[in-house]
Amino acid sequence: MGDRWHVEVDRGVCIGSGMCVNHAPGAFRLDSARQSHPADPETDANEKVLAAAEGCPVEAITITLLDSGEVVFPPED
Ligand code: SF4
Repeated sequence: MGDRWHVEVDRGVCIGSGMCVNHAPGAFRLDSARQSHPADPETDANEKVLAAAEGCPVEAITITLLDSGEVVFPPED
């Protein structure tokens, strides 16, 4: 792919399920309040981070292209 992504977790939406940590160990971590944080908000495009975003039960994870801001996830309706 070669794209660079910006990854964001909406902490007002995250319910601390930990699914993202299971999907992409090392890419997300839960803080003491069980809120998820991307380990690095700027990352190379990778399937595990996308799987984490897809697997989040409340769609708290947004991925955009770093250069253009184009939305990678969630897909537009
Ligand atoms: S999968 Fe979603 S709700 Fe669960 S911890 Fe990660 S961001 Fe939060």
